[in-house]
Amino acid sequence: MTIFEAQSQAGGLLLNGIPAFKLEKSVVERRLNILRQRGVEFQLNVTLGVDLELRELLDEFDAVFLGIGAQKAKALDVPGAELRGIHQALPFLIQKNSPMALEFPPVSVTGKRVAVLGGGDTAMDCLRTALRSGALEAVCIYRRDLANMPGSRKEFGNAIEEGAQFLFLTNPVAVEGNAQGEVAGVRCTKMELGEPDSSGRRKPRVIPGSELTIKADLLLVAYGFDPVPFPAGSDLASVAVNDWGGIVVDANQMTSVPRVFAGGDSVRGASLVVHAVRDGRKAAAGIHRVLTPAK
Ligand SMILES: Cc1cc2nc3c(=O)[nH]c(=O)nc-3n(C[C@H](O)[C@H](O)[C@H](O)COP(=O)(O)OP(=O)(O)OC[C@H]3O[C@@H](n4cnc5c(N)ncnc54)[C@H](O)[C@@H]3O)c2cc1C
Repeated sequence: MTIFEAQSQAGGLLLNGIPAFKLEKSVVERRLNILRQRGVEFQLNVTLGVDLELRELLDEFDAVFLGIGAQKAKALDVPGAELRGIHQALPFLIQKNSPMALEFPPVSVTGKRVAVLGGGDTAMDCLRTALRSGALEAVCIYRRDLANMPGSRKEFGNAIEEGAQFLFLTNPVAVEGNAQGEVAGVRCTKMELGEPDSSGRRKPRVIPGSELTIKADLLLVAYGFDPVPFPAGSDLASVAVNDWGGIVVDANQMTSVPRVFAGGDSVRGASLVVHAVRDGRKAAAGIHRVLTPAK
């Protein structure tokens, strides 16, 4: 069995996204070593669809499992989003939590007022990581209320315990800058909650005339993740995806391409480790079923 990994180290978000204060990296390293001892080969710095095509894998292997995650960050799409001092959550977390060499310059939060935009678990990780990295304050700006926030209550409680502040029912509409083109604040509108939307959460609506500016020196955007589109021109395009880019699978976790299976965030969208593990197990059983000749 061979694992092809685009990054210089295997482990995905367990190693480079989830902060070490939530998941000790030695735990992941131990699992990786168990796999190595059992004969799994790791080929690092190999991007499927760029360095290697799906047909090459299907020529060499009986089955292929796509566990390529969903790490495309949702953008901050408001006026002022180009100002200096705005960073996506994941590169910030990787930089603060992983020994992996990065292509972008270090982000310093020391002594800064940090505003985190979004209300999921990634936002909670950003708040805690910013405070642990020396931020003067870390404020979460979220457009719904606590009851309708997607992040877990445990993660919320941990963030509060570490000194994070929360501004609920507050929606960023623009980033304000100083004369040097750096972030100086976030202009927001206050929100109220209307009827539940298709996800069951109550839909926020603007309270007219409620604009306010929250002073901030640095913004961390944690608006969630989508699957990364397949590299242009690659034969991965033959794998069917749904309207938001999630890989479509059947009851065996098999994709539209025979002998190609998938699971985890690349199928579900940003989810949890346990769900990715369950998909992997289900796919292993599915691969066994599909490859075993009928008696
Ligand atoms: C900040 C953060 C905190 C989180 N905290 C928790 C938590 O506390 N508890 C929890 O259960 N879940 C947490 N999650 C979610 C959890 O990390 C994911 O659900 C889980 O890692 C999904 O596993 P996966 O294998 O599907 O994808 P990933 O972990 O994203 O792994 C995908 C791997 O595929 C590689 N890859 C992508 N494209 C290619 C390609 N074309 N060729 C080769 N390799 C490729 C990537 O480099 C990556 O290593 C968190 C997520 C984030 C972002």
